[in-house]
Amino acid sequence: MNLPPRTECDADVNAISIEEALDRIQSRLPRLERHEIISCSDALGRITASKVHSPISVPPFRASAMDGYALRVSEAGSSLIVEGRSYAGHPGLDAISYGACQRITTGARVPDDADAVVQQENVKIDGDTILINKQPKVGLNIRLPGSDSQQGDELLESGTRIGAAQVALLAAHGIDKINVHRQIHVAVFSTGDELVSPPDSLQPGQIYDANRSLLIALLSNPAIRISDLGICKDSKADIQNILEQASDADLVISSGGVSVGDADHVRAVLEQSGRVDLWKIAMKPGRPLTFGFSKPSQAFFGLPGNPVSAALTALLFVKPAIRSMLDMESLRSPKLQLPLASDIFKLPGRVEYQRAVICKNDEGAWQVSTTGLQDSHVLSSLNKANCLIELPIESAGGQIGDIVQVIPFTHFAEAQLQ
Ligand code: AMP
Ligand code: MG
Repeated sequence: MNLPPRTECDADVNAISIEEALDRIQSRLPRLERHEIISCSDALGRITASKVHSPISVPPFRASAMDGYALRVSEAGSSLIVEGRSYAGHPGLDAISYGACQRITTGARVPDDADAVVQQENVKIDGDTILINKQPKVGLNIRLPGSDSQQGDELLESGTRIGAAQVALLAAHGIDKINVHRQIHVAVFSTGDELVSPPDSLQPGQIYDANRSLLIALLSNPAIRISDLGICKDSKADIQNILEQASDADLVISSGGVSVGDADHVRAVLEQSGRVDLWKIAMKPGRPLTFGFSKPSQAFFGLPGNPVSAALTALLFVKPAIRSMLDMESLRSPKLQLPLASDIFKLPGRVEYQRAVICKNDEGAWQVSTTGLQDSHVLSSLNKANCLIELPIESAGGQIGDIVQVIPFTHFAEAQLQ
């Protein structure tokens, strides 16, 4: 591969790092204060707004972990008469006579007199009596009360996304109502005189609006309510008008019109009505990013117009911002380290994300391969990708076999916000 001379550089002295942009955004974002109490059966995907404590101990009683016989270990050496039974949901008597044991099933209450359960496979049955093959230890096959959680324990932290495990945990503790953050209300619009929506046909110079569909899809989540505000013309009046329609949104996201071209009015409108910072970020794609407030309690992101830049900045900045507004911890998923399947070109100076796919080579070893043209308007290479290769600022590309950092899309998978 013909790498460019090492002196070539893509750096911009005015650009800030991704980390610095994230810090600035985090430090300025408001937290969403509004909560609501909802039924746990409606809570999947919602975010807890306070800690949840256990109202009971689980298991609530000493329970058998096996089908077998409850007995006193001190008597396990001799044959024992089977006396009574304790089935799940049908506890037997607590008392066991001397020289006796009780038939028991998994999940049934262990009689207070018993200190072990011997599983039925380890027992020889002879009429009404049993003989134990192997001497049990005290506590064998007994689940202690509170061994999962004690009454009063913290079950869920505030800011936890309620998934299947959390729904099960709440149900196991008899909890049917939960305090969650109200859905964060996000308003989305596209800017550009050239944009039309399907099924309208394209007139000369027009393109279809991809970004609104993209952003709505990326943010579709039970914790988020999305208002689709459509396409906004490149005029200050139209932008002002659309912001008025978004007046009860917690967060407004636009795309396009944030550079310094003649038709880029988003910044000017925001400066009039709120405050705005336009940053160049040392990343590719997605160098210009606008963040600010369209009014005091309404955060605003103006994403770049090219669809892949909009996608990258939404994943890297908007999603973490929403997590932070919902009081959730930032994502700390590990990146993968994989060898490159082919050479890749890059100039030093910015962090670069290349659309790629994790696949196996002929020997069956995992590697990563770019998916085609990497320009920021090219959605077809995003379609084929299942990950991003992250090349650090100083990187000057890579050669086949070089180990690179890879971020699988599942990392962001938050229809999931996890
Ligand atoms: P802008 O930042 O408005 O100058 O847009 C940069 C590039 O992205 C231009 O080629 C626009 O036509 C394109 N673009 C802007 N918005 C969208 C959109 N919503 N969908 C697809 N392409 C867009
Ligand atoms: Mg534009």
